[in-house]
Amino acid sequence: MNEHDSERISNLLIRDGYVSSDNALTADVVVLNTCCIRENADTKLYGNLGHLKAIKDEREDFKIVVAGCLAQKDRDLIRKRAPWVDLVVGTHNVSRVATLLEETSTKGPIVEILEESILDQEFFSSPGPRLSLPYSAYVTVQIGCDNNCAFCIVPQVRGKEISRPFGELLGEVRQLAQDGVTEITLLGQNVNSYGRDLTVDARRSGVFDSKIVGEQYLSEEGARLRPLFGDLMREVAQIDGISRVRFTSPHPKDLRPETIEAMASTKEIMNHLHFPLQSGSDRILALMHRGYSAERYLEKLRDARLGIDDLAVTTDIIVGFPGETEEDFEATLEVAASAQYDGAYTFIYSPRPGTEAAAMVDRFIAPEVISDRFDRLKVVIERSALARHEARIGRVEEVLVEGPSKKNPDHMSGRTGQNKLVHFNKEPQFNSAERLGVGSYVEVEITSATPYFLRGRLLNVVRSPRHRRKLQVAAY
Ligand code: SAH
Ligand code: SF4
Repeated sequence: MNEHDSERISNLLIRDGYVSSDNALTADVVVLNTCCIRENADTKLYGNLGHLKAIKDEREDFKIVVAGCLAQKDRDLIRKRAPWVDLVVGTHNVSRVATLLEETSTKGPIVEILEESILDQEFFSSPGPRLSLPYSAYVTVQIGCDNNCAFCIVPQVRGKEISRPFGELLGEVRQLAQDGVTEITLLGQNVNSYGRDLTVDARRSGVFDSKIVGEQYLSEEGARLRPLFGDLMREVAQIDGISRVRFTSPHPKDLRPETIEAMASTKEIMNHLHFPLQSGSDRILALMHRGYSAERYLEKLRDARLGIDDLAVTTDIIVGFPGETEEDFEATLEVAASAQYDGAYTFIYSPRPGTEAAAMVDRFIAPEVISDRFDRLKVVIERSALARHEARIGRVEEVLVEGPSKKNPDHMSGRTGQNKLVHFNKEPQFNSAERLGVGSYVEVEITSATPYFLRGRLLNVVRSPRHRRKLQVAAY
């Protein structure tokens, strides 16, 4: 979500006449878009601000902006600890960055934070492909979060859940597709509750606008149905030029059969489900307020696997939630083993100020116990990931090319439909940059596997890239 916000900020500044630079030493403005989901993301900011102070000391007109979740949470602290920061903007008014930057020249340092979450139209008017991948784009379908997971700071810094209008989302994807984007990742904290607020608002105001709830959800008497996330995905998948639709995150308590059905019946929706477990212990899940038991989670996973062919499943797990006993942790290991994940993001519990769990200080788990559990969990995840990856050997996968492999420039890297990273060697006949460019779709035979990636051999180029490329124009 933050990465995508950074792209939008960057696009807004470019629209305002700024040019992107890859060197902070010579740039006029540096924007630090912050995340406060865990403490280490949070503390990084002050280290970076310390480095930037040296530039500010040399060049007074150099501007430093701090945006995002941490700015929302620590607005005044940032100015106090780093008075050389020119502008602090929160999560609800990032679209004001360019205007406020301008104002700092006459008014001096500015801190502007809004308390209420709003759908900032100006912010959403700056879509574009991912900064690193010109053929792929993130599309935010909802902002904020209405849940109250005991460990999580997101509701505090991102505000209440608001869905973006159905028609507006389709318009944005159409625009991206026209610019040659072929892969869309739909983003939200709880994508399966997408649309819940749209019809509620329409009912309350008495205004049923097809642009908001989607044309097909208007009955003769007005809107009665709400568009579901599955409907949104299906519509996005039908847009000309879009070949791959992904999404994150579906909260397990809200995963609906309609979402599974949309995934099962639409070939453009990729067969990968990121399904955050957090813990396998019912006791801890209840303390976390996750709204599901381990058994219910596994049941939903079973349904998804039964419905969707060849589904890859990944997850998020937190180790060391306050009060987690050895027995609780073993329950997590058991669920993880039985879920047979393709991969997992595993996190050490990080107390976040103002959250319910952060107050359970008397039940915090000793770091050495957490570290031991963390390593044991990794073994279980790697075991299933390797087994699932080895089962791909010999198969031919369609791969979307990301570019030359970072480790070996003679090899290329890309992603399969299941979102697995594949490194493959190009045969001499495929050396033409035109045909095997970033954003091509190719067929790769999988030859070996590790828990984190696959290796393969290029067989065939299926489709060349269609995104726009910048041409080098001589300067006069
Ligand atoms: N909305 C998503 C989660 C988004 S946050 C969901 O509910 O599934 C991404 C991940 O960060 C979470 O799934 C969780 O595993 C991790 N996380 C969030 N807060 C954390 C904390 N305080 N300590 C450690 N990990 C945390
Ligand atoms: Fe945080 Fe829970 Fe909302 Fe996810 S669903 S963003 S973990 S509060």
